[in-house]
Amino acid sequence: MGESKATTFSMSNENARGVLNAWSKTGFFRARNFGDRIRIEGISSVACREIRLRVQYEDRSLKEVKTAFHGEAIDDVGVRADPQEIPVEPPTDCEDRTVEVEVPHSERVEGCSSCGGAGRSNCRMCQGVGRTACHSCHGSGWRSHIEAQPPVRNREGRMTFPPPKTVRLRCSCFGGQTQCSVCRGQKKVTCSSCEGMGRVKVSNLLVVTFSASNKVCVLNPTSVPDDMACLGEGEMELEKRPFSGPAELAVDADLQAAVEGLLERTRPKNEATSRILSRMVTVKRVPIWQVTYAFSSSDNRKAWIFGTDHRVFAPRAPRAWGRVFAVFVAGLIFLGIVALLLTH
Ligand SMILES: [Zn+2]
Ligand SMILES: [Zn+2]
Ligand SMILES: [Zn+2]
Repeated sequence: MGESKATTFSMSNENARGVLNAWSKTGFFRARNFGDRIRIEGISSVACREIRLRVQYEDRSLKEVKTAFHGEAIDDVGVRADPQEIPVEPPTDCEDRTVEVEVPHSERVEGCSSCGGAGRSNCRMCQGVGRTACHSCHGSGWRSHIEAQPPVRNREGRMTFPPPKTVRLRCSCFGGQTQCSVCRGQKKVTCSSCEGMGRVKVSNLLVVTFSASNKVCVLNPTSVPDDMACLGEGEMELEKRPFSGPAELAVDADLQAAVEGLLERTRPKNEATSRILSRMVTVKRVPIWQVTYAFSSSDNRKAWIFGTDHRVFAPRAPRAWGRVFAVFVAGLIFLGIVALLLTH
């Protein structure tokens, strides 16, 4: 297929030296002119591929909605549509969203189950008793208050104040109970479900939830960390390409296996109610050049130049030992000065 291209970028030894020289200048502890000081044994060209899969799901469920029935017209004539077939436009921005649609012709009238059709139900505040515990006496029927006592003369003839007394009084309520403020002692209230009508209108509501899932996998044959390699600039092998099965993408075996692995991770949680609306794949290819080099006479090390913007990953690159030593000595001198200041 036309979109699947694998451009090969070239990297000569001279190019690689230039890139590594520039890289070694940008770190304080890196030995300068790294590229010029190594013996390049070979450069092999590979690539890292970042595969992003985006799956949009649709989940449908039915909900019953009950409202008070006041005798109005009811939409119950005609074939009731299959809720799975009612067209609902998915969001174009791929946002997670819930849409509710009334199922046409699904209305019917039923007796109110909350009040058994009576229109009135037991008051919830007093549980249908008509009375509640008194707030003043907390249901005890008694109130107590502290009363100061008049001063008395003691044996020496001095005035003293005896400690105050707690006095219990009968509360003005009826044995700890007062009339319920919600039903005013009527024990029943107008049923809120049917607004006192005894009947409710029931209709079916279709609840459609749109959600999306993003999964990423990286095919990286090198030691460059995956997240680092993906930062390199590259080319888009596939960009936001919709597909229904991996075979449709006409890609090589590695990519096909990766896409199949991602598809396995994006199966809907509940296959009975969810279905996949769309799948979209994006593949970015970042070129990587693996440079095998020797720095001292005998060893064999590897560095990687990756991305068309030529980033470098060289974990075993030589250090600027002179600078490392200088910083170490400066640290020791600093600590010595601090110690001197503290002891004087
Ligand atoms: Zn009371
Ligand atoms: Zn009540
Ligand atoms: Zn009711």
